Amino acid sequence: DRESKNRQHKRSRLIVLAGPTAVGKGTVASYIRENYPDVLLSVSATTRKPRPGEVEGVNYFFVDDAEFDRLIENNELLEHATVHNASRYGTPRGPIDEALARGDSVLLEIDIQGARQVRAAMPEATLVFLLPPSWDELVRRLVGRGTEDAEERERRLETARHELAAQDEFDYRVVNGTVADAAQEVVDLIKTRGARPRRA
Ligand code: 5GP
Repeated sequence: DRESKNRQHKRSRLIVLAGPTAVGKGTVASYIRENYPDVLLSVSATTRKPRPGEVEGVNYFFVDDAEFDRLIENNELLEHATVHNASRYGTPRGPIDEALARGDSVLLEIDIQGARQVRAAMPEATLVFLLPPSWDELVRRLVGRGTEDAEERERRLETARHELAAQDEFDYRVVNGTVADAAQEVVDLIKTRGARPRRA
C-alpha cells in the first residue's frame, strides 16, 4: 500500500555528492569505492576518453556521442550535462531504480548542474556539497594537479566561484580537509540514510 511504499522510500536514499571544480569530489568518490565496498556508487556514462588506469564499467561507461544521444533519446539517463564545455556525462537510471527498489542507498558523484536535475526529478534525494577548506586551498589544488593550462585554470576558477554560490541549495556541507575524513562523513550520511534536515 501507499503507506509502506512511503516508508520504503524514506529508508533507501539517493545521495548526491557535488561541489566546485577541483574540490576533490572524484578523489573522495574513489576513496569510498576502495575503502567502503558496501557503498553503492553510481557509474556514469561519459563521452570523454578513459584516463590511464580507468576501467570500463568501474569508473565510467565510456561511450561515443552517438551512443550518448541514444541513451538520452531512450530516456535511460536520470540526468546529464556537458561539463567544462567539453565532454558529456550522465547517470544511468536503471541501476538506481533497481537499488532503491531493493531498499539500498546509492551515491552519485556528479557536477552541480546534474545535482539540480536530480533534485528536480527526485525531490527526496539528499544533496551533499563538498567544500574546500578555503578559496586559497581550492586554487592551490587546481594548480597542484597540473592537468590544466593557465587559460583553462582561469576558466575553471571562474566556474568554481559561481559553483560555490550553489551550496545554499544543498542539504549538507562537508569540508574536504583530508580525503579520509570527508569520505567518512559522506559514508556516515549514507549509513544514517542521509535523514534530511528540516528546511527553514
Ligand atoms: P572527470 O572527467 O574528471 O572524471 O569528471 C569531470 C566532472 O564530471 C566532475 O565534476 C564530475 O563530478 C562530473 N561528472 C561525472 N559523472 C557525472 C554524471 O553522471 N553527471 C554529471 N552531471 N556530472 C558528472
